[in-house]
Amino acid sequence: MEIACLDLEGVLVPEIWIAFAEKTGIEELKATTRDIPDYDVLMKQRLSILHKHGLKLADIQEVIATLKPLDGAVEFVNWLRERFQVVILSDTFYEFSQPLMRQLGFPTLLCHRLITDENDRVVDYQLRQKDPKRQSVVALKSIYYRIIAAGDSYNDTTMLSEAHAGILFHAPDNVIEEFPQFPAVHTFEELKKEFIKASNRELAL
Ligand SMILES: [Mg+2]
Repeated sequence: MEIACLDLEGVLVPEIWIAFAEKTGIEELKATTRDIPDYDVLMKQRLSILHKHGLKLADIQEVIATLKPLDGAVEFVNWLRERFQVVILSDTFYEFSQPLMRQLGFPTLLCHRLITDENDRVVDYQLRQKDPKRQSVVALKSIYYRIIAAGDSYNDTTMLSEAHAGILFHAPDNVIEEFPQFPAVHTFEELKKEFIKASNRELAL
C-alpha cells in the first residue's frame, strides 16, 4: 500500500503569511525565515505584529478564508485521493490552514498549533515535534506503507529523502540544483505523471 505525502504551502495553497500580509497590507508580516533565520524569533515577531494591529484569531481566519488554493490544486488533490491515501505534512498551523483546508475537502493534515487566550488573541504556538515531516514519514513506514512525497522547499527535503520516492514541485532553482536526486516538476499534470512513475502499481492518468 502507498501513501502520498504532500507539503501544503507553495504546493497546494499560497504561502499563508505572505498572502495574509498582502491581503491586509501589513508589510512587516512579509518577513520569512530567509530574513529572520531563527524561527522562534520570527514567530514571536509575527505574533506581536498581530497584536499591534489588534488582530484576533477569528479576524485572521476571516482574511485567510478569502484566499484560494492554487489553480488546479483542488482537482489535483481529488485525483490523488482516488489513487493514494493522502496525508498533508505541513509547517503551518491548524488554525490558519482551516479555511484553505475546507476548500480542499479536509484531507488529513499533520501540522502545528496556535495557542489563543480567552479573548481569542494568538499568544503562542506549539510545534508538533522536531523534524516533523521526516518523522511522519518514518512513522508511516513503520506500519509498512510505501511513501511517495512531494514538496517545494528546504523544509521538505528530509521528508523527500526519507520517503521511498521524493518529488520537487514548484521548487526554486537553488533547491533543484542542491537536490538533483529528486525529479523537479512545475505543473500538476507533470506532478501526476511523477506520482504514477513513482508508484509500484499500474496507475492511469
Ligand atoms: Mg512549502
